[in-house]
Amino acid sequence: MTIPTTMRAVVKPAPGEGLALVEVPVPAVGPDDVLIRVTAASICGTDVHIYNWDAWSAGRIKPPVALGHEFAGTVAAIGPAVDDLPVGTPVSAEGHIVMPGARHVVSGQEHLAKDMVVIGIDRPGAFADYVAVPRRNVWVNPPELDPEIASLQDPFGNAVHTVHAQPVAGRSVLITGAGLIGLMAIPVARAAGAAAVYVTDVNPRRLAMARDMGADLALDARAAPAEAVMGATGGAGVDVLLEMSGNAAAIDQGFTLLRPGGDAALLGLPGKAVEVNWSDHLVTKGATVRGIYGRRMWETWHQMRALLGTGAVDLRPLITHRYALDDFQAAFDVMRSGESGKVILRP
Ligand code: ZN
Repeated sequence: MTIPTTMRAVVKPAPGEGLALVEVPVPAVGPDDVLIRVTAASICGTDVHIYNWDAWSAGRIKPPVALGHEFAGTVAAIGPAVDDLPVGTPVSAEGHIVMPGARHVVSGQEHLAKDMVVIGIDRPGAFADYVAVPRRNVWVNPPELDPEIASLQDPFGNAVHTVHAQPVAGRSVLITGAGLIGLMAIPVARAAGAAAVYVTDVNPRRLAMARDMGADLALDARAAPAEAVMGATGGAGVDVLLEMSGNAAAIDQGFTLLRPGGDAALLGLPGKAVEVNWSDHLVTKGATVRGIYGRRMWETWHQMRALLGTGAVDLRPLITHRYALDDFQAAFDVMRSGESGKVILRP
């Protein structure tokens, strides 16, 4: 395969709102790198933050940089130190790159290392014809896996990791926040044997999607969902809380509905410090609370392969829009409207 010298990429060209499609050199392939021809990439909430140039983006992003960390493609070239990935192999990649000598790396917890470099944030990403990643970040996809579904494994991994942070078999689960990861968590909890899955959100479209994904109850968080959840659990409250919203009111509501001795896994990121009823929600409730970040390398990825490969989880209903890379502006417009599910770019 002949690899061109330049390619298209959607980049943050300079500080401020917006993105641009530009012609850039195809990334250089280091000795341990793999060059991937991107076939599908999906737009993440993080990409929207970077588009909008919020305070987090302004502090983190160093323009110009190509965006995109959720993707699938095929191997186009390998560095001289890579000997096990034939050209054409279908792949995705873990976007978090643990740097050699990174601090606080504990075996099995590499996803929590400090000093991580993230594809599409700190180095060129996959809203492009090609992306280069270290070999150790490459994940080989089954050849039959649709690249669009394969591109969702980054957020899907967040959902799988959150659900499996505590036992859910035979237990009732409340998901606060029907964003894409919250929606993905519904069939994952079902596949893990949850007795019931309840979802709260404020967006009617997202609540409808939650029902489509298999939620027993999808409730408007502003319309006193406590009555319905308490009624459905015989007045006990839920066994497991999966907090996906980062919203202070939803966090308070979620812990109010958690039964004494229950488990909570927290993925949503509040934009600022949140007040917590420490006595009622944590101490006297005897709650077990876990913070969740990223996904395990590679335990979560193996779980995803099984969940997708066996058909236990079907993510296709979550993809609502597809665009060519050249139409990135339309793709971001629909993503920013809040009226979409997952939006896919096809280079
Ligand atoms: Zn993402």
